[in-house]
Amino acid sequence: MTVADYSCDVLIVGGGLVGSALANALCRIPVRTVLVEARDPGSFEQPGFDGRVTALANGSKRILEQLGLRDSLRGEAEPIVSIHIGEQGHFGAARIVAQHEGVDALGYTIGNRALGAALWKPLEGASAFTGLAPAKLVSFVGGEDSVTAEVDEGGRRVNIRARLLIAADGTRSSVRQSLGIPVRENDYGQRAINVNVTTEAALDGRAFERFTPQGPLAVLPLARGRAAVVWTLGASEADRVMALSDETFRCELQRAFGHRLGRIERVGQRGLHALSRVRSGALSDRRTLLVGNAAVSLHPVAGQAFNLALRDVATIAELIADDAASRGENADPGSDRVLERYAEWRRDDQRKVAWFTHGLIRGFGARGPGLGALRGLGLVAFDLVPGAKALLARHTMGMAGRLPRLARGLPLS
Ligand SMILES: Cc1cc2nc3c(=O)[nH]c(=O)nc-3n(C[C@H](O)[C@H](O)[C@H](O)COP(=O)(O)OP(=O)(O)OC[C@H]3O[C@@H](n4cnc5c(N)ncnc54)[C@H](O)[C@@H]3O)c2cc1C
Repeated sequence: MTVADYSCDVLIVGGGLVGSALANALCRIPVRTVLVEARDPGSFEQPGFDGRVTALANGSKRILEQLGLRDSLRGEAEPIVSIHIGEQGHFGAARIVAQHEGVDALGYTIGNRALGAALWKPLEGASAFTGLAPAKLVSFVGGEDSVTAEVDEGGRRVNIRARLLIAADGTRSSVRQSLGIPVRENDYGQRAINVNVTTEAALDGRAFERFTPQGPLAVLPLARGRAAVVWTLGASEADRVMALSDETFRCELQRAFGHRLGRIERVGQRGLHALSRVRSGALSDRRTLLVGNAAVSLHPVAGQAFNLALRDVATIAELIADDAASRGENADPGSDRVLERYAEWRRDDQRKVAWFTHGLIRGFGARGPGLGALRGLGLVAFDLVPGAKALLARHTMGMAGRLPRLARGLPLS
């Protein structure tokens, strides 16, 4: 048997937003963790920490605060106090307001770069934690008691033995592929363009979701008086819009969004993302778990994928902490009992959120005589029916269903 360079309880593959959040959670419990990330997390090459903005649900903010990130989020997270939902060219709109739901904010926005930096910083000096980056998982073999992994760290081969391997390696997860786990995929034939802008009128915490014939257009409040735009378009239209000059792009965006915020004044750098829903056929295999986009990748229409993944993270950490507390020396984070409890706990939440997100895209994407007016009526009804908005708000705020301790604002152990 090869001598391992590192021997640990948990090996995390992928240090994007989800893998680094998981590492922070595991640092709070008595397990030895190694994280391997293919890119330098401090560089602009890191795909997860690009110019995108993430809308964090209240439950997610609680999780991050429990992980000790309260101070680093403070100047960066901007509250969302209302969400206005409407359809371009049709009457009818719905408004969800934080005050009516009895909360200070419906959620918070934060730039991915700031969030990525906040998640990696505490890992630097953490005990019982080793971060290898840039380092790439090359292969792994699951055995009875452990997983043995081979990693390429700048041309050097490193062997790692772990009780549990957690794949946080994104939508095209090579871990999932190596295990031969099938996926269910819906390609929406759409692209999302993300761009930060400034507008004549201040957003003052207001967020807008506008459904257009091409796809949804979201405008979210962002710290320092800016707004974050996620504009979904058909694939070829998105390519055309990406190639426009800043000024022509600004004019087209203004036309698509309208003048609710006055003139769109400045536009920043644009990013382009292909959109599909990818759901893994299984969440675990022998001594291996999938989290984040490796488990479920969603259309960004309702800003749910990272929020869902944080609940995965909080659940895994809780199950491992409880196993350690109850079994002491005999604890085993990669045992079937931990893996089965994880898959059983998370299945329902993942299925509901994936269904809801897919339904929004299919529902608002359907074209046909009278359908626009019908959706308008639906939005008006939704705005008037008591309880309907509260129910949706609780789900999208990450406060519904069976929640792990961190999402309830409680410590892990
Ligand atoms: C336009 C847009 C807007 C979005 N807005 C929101 C939002 O508002 N709210 C929300 O909740 N979600 C949102 N999302 C979704 C969210 O961004 C993703 O769910 C989240 O970034 C997924 O993170 P991840 O860590 O699972 O995957 P990734 O970010 O893909 O990270 C995977 C990491 O694994 C590494 N890796 C891959 N293979 C290997 C290997 N073999 N060895 C070592 N490392 C490896 C990669 O380098 C990468 O860093 C949005 C998505 C898009 C596209």
